[in-house]
Amino acid sequence: MSALDALRGPEHTGSNRCWPCTALNLLLVGAFACWLRFRDRRVLGTLVAAGGVAVVYLRGYVVPYTPAFAPKLVAASPLPNEWFHDERSPQPADGKSSLAATDLDGETVLQELVTAGVVEAVDDRLLVAEDVDGPWHEEMRSLAALSVDGLAREIARSLPHVDETDSLVAEGRSWVVVGPGEGELVARPVAVAELAAYRVLADYLDDESIRLAAARALRMFLEECPACGTGLVETSEVSCCGGYAKPRQTPDEVLACPNCDQRLYTFPSGE
Ligand SMILES: [Zn+2]
Repeated sequence: MSALDALRGPEHTGSNRCWPCTALNLLLVGAFACWLRFRDRRVLGTLVAAGGVAVVYLRGYVVPYTPAFAPKLVAASPLPNEWFHDERSPQPADGKSSLAATDLDGETVLQELVTAGVVEAVDDRLLVAEDVDGPWHEEMRSLAALSVDGLAREIARSLPHVDETDSLVAEGRSWVVVGPGEGELVARPVAVAELAAYRVLADYLDDESIRLAAARALRMFLEECPACGTGLVETSEVSCCGGYAKPRQTPDEVLACPNCDQRLYTFPSGE
């Protein structure tokens, strides 16, 4: 590890860089440097400017606690949000995007799954029934072996409501783009899990929309990433910009693959 790497703060730089924090910090560094120059402290002003920019570049911000307030400040400002959030550069999926076209309520879906014998209660816990779990994991393994292009084609071929798919690889993450135009970005591990579940559930559920919603719900039972086999971790969705869209809400708990850097499931926060 080089000396520079030791200084680097990866949680607030690279793809995690918070642009409101960066912009606000550069503005403050510039203002402070100008003030020093104005006070005839030219050398110090230059040093502050150079040092401040370097720290913002390496660590994401220089003013303490910037991530706690900059996103809210920018959201409240009249500046267009697009300046700070590139819509086309996908953030880690929110875990809510899905191959399912409609969003049925969780309780109804779980009830259907229990009635159909797909999910069963064992010692106060809900588990996927063994004769579903085995074939589901087998199907996931075979879909994981496909390229993301191959997976996208497989989805268009298998789901009646999907006519068009594409694939997108950006910043080390892979997505299936479902639907025409910009479509909906579905993370590769999510697509693998849902298509596999959709196929296996054919023997259990007749209603197409329930079958799709059920395929989506089964993701909460995953323990390993369907795409790479890495153990999933339960984490909260806090990131530098986590408070940006909904500053008053507690962060959702998510199931994520640290290797694919993708979210597999977002547990409802109850708010
Ligand atoms: Zn993974």
